[in-house]
Amino acid sequence: MNPSEWIDLRSDTVTRPTAAMRRAMAEAEVGDDVYGEDPTVNRLERRAAEIFGKEAGLFVPTGTMGNTIAVKVHTNHGQEVICEARSHVLSFELAMMAWFSGCVARAVRAEDGVLRWSRIRPEIRPLGPHWAPTGLIEIENTHNMAGGTVMPVEAIEEICDGAHGLGLKVHMDGARVFNAAAHLGRPVSEITAKVDTVMFCLSKGLGAPVGSTLVGTAADMARGRLYRKRLGGGMRQVGVLAAAGLIALDEMPNRLGEDHENAQFLAEALARIPGIRIPHEVQTNIVIFDVSGTGLASSEFSARLKERGVLINGINPTQMRLLTHFDANRTACERALEAIGQVAAGAAVAKEA
Ligand SMILES: *Cc1c(COP(=O)(O)O)cnc(C)c1O
Repeated sequence: MNPSEWIDLRSDTVTRPTAAMRRAMAEAEVGDDVYGEDPTVNRLERRAAEIFGKEAGLFVPTGTMGNTIAVKVHTNHGQEVICEARSHVLSFELAMMAWFSGCVARAVRAEDGVLRWSRIRPEIRPLGPHWAPTGLIEIENTHNMAGGTVMPVEAIEEICDGAHGLGLKVHMDGARVFNAAAHLGRPVSEITAKVDTVMFCLSKGLGAPVGSTLVGTAADMARGRLYRKRLGGGMRQVGVLAAAGLIALDEMPNRLGEDHENAQFLAEALARIPGIRIPHEVQTNIVIFDVSGTGLASSEFSARLKERGVLINGINPTQMRLLTHFDANRTACERALEAIGQVAAGAAVAKEA
């Protein structure tokens, strides 16, 4: 099968820029962003700050760089960063908090991915004869590996109030915070009002080809600019990317509900397939499903789906994770479902034989 016909549900990063984004990129007004002179980047950073109700924004090439800069801005070498055990900053960012910021993660497991102040508080350490002090609290919303779960706003506010009371900052990895907002029916500014910095991705469900943005105080973003340069993120005439980001930011959040409906549709249908189990409640655009009941390892399940033109990866030997997005409409989801049904049924026949 031709790769252009694949139904790719491996991630929402696979979305391609819309026609409007491509036009805006071609026509973008640009300057040298290292001098702060790219008008389109400046517009994107201002617009992001405005939407989140923060003082300033910083356009970065990737979410990983945004999180890395935030950790660096808030911490000193030799501190701990409290985060959820399966968080992106700990599991999928090549130990950048150690490599760049000299910090170690203090991982706290929350089954649904939603950290609570009651779990965080006992893990906070002062500097002592044996301890590295806590430097930062990091929360992930939506939580990727817990299946796109949404943090209740009260839980976020309780964490921020508690942390601030102890002089600690809170960073939100909001790669998919617009999905959280769509689920709650509230603006991102309400969800993140008390958080010190937020990183969000333009290149996932919002459909931009490249880019993420960090928002926070003007002072933190000014320091962040220096770290961005150190990390190789001084991108010159990068308004060509920010132009797509502006469209992503203004026009795409409103359509995320559609992705969530497709995820619900898939989750309900998958739960009816013998051998497949959905371990978590599906709230946004991520569906984790367990295929161990089919007798197939997730890697084999994935390989058999690929033969049918459907791309979905395993996240461990028994579980797979699919994401719905703008480039996979309901018809594509129906075709993916059919392929999953065929693979599961094929495995059941083989098991009986
Ligand atoms: C995708 C993602 C990021 C950033 O990923 P990049 O590939 O570096 O842009 C950060 N956090 C979470 C939770 C993510 O899902």
